Amino acid sequence: MDNNPWERAKSQLKEVATRLSLDELLISKLLSLDRVIEVLMPMKMDDGEVTVFQGFRVQHNNIRGPYKGGLRYHPNVDMNEVKALALWMTMKNAVIDVPFGGGKGGINVDPKKLSEKELENLTKEFTKKLSPVIGPNLDIPAPDVNTNSKIMEWIVEEYGKVKGHEELGVVTGKPIGKGGCQGRTEATGLGGSYALQAILKKRNIQSKDMTVAVQGFGNVGVFVAKYLHEAGFKIVALSDSKGGIYVPEGIKDIEVVEKCKRDSGYVAGCYCVGSVCDLSNREQLGGKTISSLDVLELPVDIIVPAALENSITQENADKIKAKIILEMANGPTTLKADKILSEKGVLVIPDILANSGGVAVSYFEWYQNIHNEKWTKEEVFKKLKEKMELSAEDIYKTSLEYKVSLREAAYIVALRRIEKEDKSSTN
Ligand code: NAD
Repeated sequence: MDNNPWERAKSQLKEVATRLSLDELLISKLLSLDRVIEVLMPMKMDDGEVTVFQGFRVQHNNIRGPYKGGLRYHPNVDMNEVKALALWMTMKNAVIDVPFGGGKGGINVDPKKLSEKELENLTKEFTKKLSPVIGPNLDIPAPDVNTNSKIMEWIVEEYGKVKGHEELGVVTGKPIGKGGCQGRTEATGLGGSYALQAILKKRNIQSKDMTVAVQGFGNVGVFVAKYLHEAGFKIVALSDSKGGIYVPEGIKDIEVVEKCKRDSGYVAGCYCVGSVCDLSNREQLGGKTISSLDVLELPVDIIVPAALENSITQENADKIKAKIILEMANGPTTLKADKILSEKGVLVIPDILANSGGVAVSYFEWYQNIHNEKWTKEEVFKKLKEKMELSAEDIYKTSLEYKVSLREAAYIVALRRIEKEDKSSTN
């Protein structure tokens, strides 16, 4: 049960809903799923062979608005993961106060093993299968692990073909110039940086030179590292699925690491490819390579899990030395690990707050699409900052009022908003 994200998501919700004495019917609705879609997609590959891919979309709840949540392409995608991620989206969208419910989807595939054409064909086949149940006012997918703006563009193309006209609002995270929003790519990472700073301010903690280790160096990991660095934090470790680098004196330029990951294919490659990047002088930097698990156990002030679920479990929670965890990944901490961390007095900034900047800017994109508006990046970042700070403050205040963790407080804030909407729609 501890490693099953769907059981965990329900258990987190049930505990807080019961404490709030929420209406039993509403609790039951939130522990259920509105719609579960599973599709099998036989595809002809470049070599002429046929492979059958499995795809999922789960629509958890739409009390507050159309279902909204990302699409993940990963070999570990399964129904339990997608159900949990959909429920967390309902909570997250309420926490950041956007008028959406929760959904999530994905395909069980390693996209790195497909050619560009195969990836496009698979995405368009998935879109065809989902087209009766997605749409700008129904269910709006977005990028997540291993999906990006190009994939969103293919979805818009195929959805338009099926419907006979283009509907930009069917997905968010599109390329700029194809209905995308300025700043969407950076939004999740930047939002995390805003959330962390807002909570530290409330706790009167000086952030300057606090050391940070980041697990995961994809869309979220890269930008959270960049923006924390820019805000004066000292980024000492970065990692991906193949390991990472640890530079106790602080990594001076995150973009250098980004470039050498691009060149060598992995973060630890920064030390291995000779003159390709400036970080190759390990002696001078005093840095070393580390495993993707070591990164969470380093002697740092803050760890930032920004990869996948279940990276902090009862196996490693006790070994964590950081006093603060900024959960940029969805569901990185198991229930047992959460308990251990709480006993150790670790401050956990929960996923449904920390990474909600992505969906906040997705909402801005959807809003601009349906109102035919175009906002500048400055406008987007200003609105994002306001939203993140407001949510962080609400959650912080609630945690003091109820004497609970920030995670429980985030659930309380979300459930109160959902309850309010539910009451007004049934009255
Ligand atoms: P991504 O595919 O761009 O990057 C994922 C990164 O995690 C890669 O660097 C990969 O190498 C690394 N990784 C995978 N397995 C790992 C492991 N076992 N150990 C260490 N690193 C590992 O994905 P992303 O969009 O950055 O998403 C990361 C997390 O953030 C996911 O949990 C996702 O659901 C969540 N999230 C993403 C967004 C968004 O806007 N993209 C929004 C909210 C939440």
